[in-house]
Amino acid sequence: MFENLTSGENLLRLWFYGFLAVGLIAGIASGFFKARKIQPSGFRWKIFGHEIGFGAINVFISGFTIGPATAWLTLNGWITFNEAPVEWWVIALEYVLYFFLFDTWFYWLHRWMHREPVYTLIHKLHHHSTSPNLMTTLSVNPLESIINGGFVPLFLTVFVVHPESMALILPTNIIMGLYVHSGYEFFPRWWNKSWTTKWFITATFHDQHHHYFVHNFGGYTTIWDRLCGTMRPKFEADYANPKAKRGRAPEAGQTETA
Ligand SMILES: [Zn+2]
Repeated sequence: MFENLTSGENLLRLWFYGFLAVGLIAGIASGFFKARKIQPSGFRWKIFGHEIGFGAINVFISGFTIGPATAWLTLNGWITFNEAPVEWWVIALEYVLYFFLFDTWFYWLHRWMHREPVYTLIHKLHHHSTSPNLMTTLSVNPLESIINGGFVPLFLTVFVVHPESMALILPTNIIMGLYVHSGYEFFPRWWNKSWTTKWFITATFHDQHHHYFVHNFGGYTTIWDRLCGTMRPKFEADYANPKAKRGRAPEAGQTETA
């Protein structure tokens, strides 16, 4: 029947189906992201602009500090890798060691950075956004980046790991940083109800740290927050029911009131 149609009609038909398909995909995608937005009206262009500027300064300064420091440690034999063939479980063990040691490093230094005058001098810049987005990941005082990022060369100086483990560790740092600041929750609502998963942080966990300031200091896990009683009491209830009304964001140093 197509041979009876003119090429113009075929083109119109193609446009129509194409338009329908793009509209359907866009609709599903926008519904998908809309349903997962943690703070639906939290985004501010002005803050986003600041974050791009501070992010660029941070990447420049911390990159030219941690990079040469790591290169110097490697050239002088402080950092070495075990290049021998390795079993998968050794890589898994090295990965787990890094994961929990970095989480511990991050938690305690993060809590320290919430104390004055360190908060105002260093960490406040990162808390400019009470509703984080991907750029918030980089919008950090270079000193704070050096404190957190410096853990990698420190870890590599203390432990001789396999390059295969580093190939997993470095992307983990980037992916976790971006995910927890994404502003979107992609993990399922049962996450904190399961004993196996509730120990690992989610975007909502860190988003609430930016929203309320005084809880949820963990970087990779909820373990230290649970042990030290610094997890937001309403975190699990809000996670399970994200539509629940949220309290006002307190100023840094204040206690959460709602
Ligand atoms: Zn903080």
